Amino acid sequence: MAAIIKANYDTNRTYLRDVIPLGAPYSISLEVTRVCNIRCNYCFQSIDGSKKKELGFEARHIDLKLIETLAEQLKKFPNKIKSMRICGMGEPLANPQFEQIMNILKSSGKVEDISFFTNALLLTHERTQNLLNSGMDRMLISLQGLNAEKYKEVCGADISFEKLINEIKYFYDMSRSTNVKLHIKIADISLKEGEDKKFIDLFGNMADEVFIGTTVPMFKSVEYSNKIMQKSNQYGVEPENEFEVCPQPFYMLHVQANGDVNPCCDYFKPVVGNIIDTSIYDIWNGDRLYEIRRMLLEFKRKAIDYCADCPSKNLIVHHKEEHLDDCANEVLANIKKAKISNV
Ligand code: SF4
Repeated sequence: MAAIIKANYDTNRTYLRDVIPLGAPYSISLEVTRVCNIRCNYCFQSIDGSKKKELGFEARHIDLKLIETLAEQLKKFPNKIKSMRICGMGEPLANPQFEQIMNILKSSGKVEDISFFTNALLLTHERTQNLLNSGMDRMLISLQGLNAEKYKEVCGADISFEKLINEIKYFYDMSRSTNVKLHIKIADISLKEGEDKKFIDLFGNMADEVFIGTTVPMFKSVEYSNKIMQKSNQYGVEPENEFEVCPQPFYMLHVQANGDVNPCCDYFKPVVGNIIDTSIYDIWNGDRLYEIRRMLLEFKRKAIDYCADCPSKNLIVHHKEEHLDDCANEVLANIKKAKISNV
């Protein structure tokens, strides 16, 4: 087998407590679209259209001009963003300008590694060629089953599983003469009993990494079956200890398709700015994000609007390097000091 069995996170990690406050976020996730071609039953996209509207959800692609603006804004950071991940509420390949977007971001010279999550159903030979020329570093495919029937059950889509495999295989073969890596994962609920081996056998020779993940309840507005429980994070890791200080606002940002910015992998709220009127550099160093960080470090998470009943907190990989509960006072003193010297 060519692939290794591995979750899609880096195990070589830095202790956050030693580096906060960071001059630039380690990672930025970006939504290039809120349009999706399928409706997986565990995803926000599966809920009723009128309810989506009520929640302020708008199915749209990001404006290419906004990407150019973002690429320019990134240049203010003193160092490069280690990882830019294209993910969120839509399917990146549904955006016809996607390859151009990756090219603009990578050409900014401020992004070390750029990757994207896809269901791969819109992959064609032509798109494979364009993607491999776009500056991308990694494609992460999320499968919803091992045959057309399972796809129909999980995401209501009529697909040709054979075509999907052929396109993935073509991407893999073409990527061998480049530095682009391919990761393929499937969620536990998309496999029937005993199909773990079938998944590995089928995809182990057309990927660099393969992984069987865990489906977790991620969205407040989705009704989850009792098969989907919050015992672990999406990598199947159960937390050794409950933690209170959410580490995400200290190392990442998420940019929505309308330019709104969140301090974490929750794709809606809290919103700490919008890149149309404030640069991402100023948002990272701004008062709204500072207040969230301060309150988290003062163990006041439940007093922060939206963080109080956060559905995403337990999705975070519980790496010990990111726990801040036992050093909250020191970290708070450091961020206060940095804030004063920036005024
Ligand atoms: S507690 Fe939840 S909503 Fe608040 S910053 Fe962390 S992940 Fe985001």
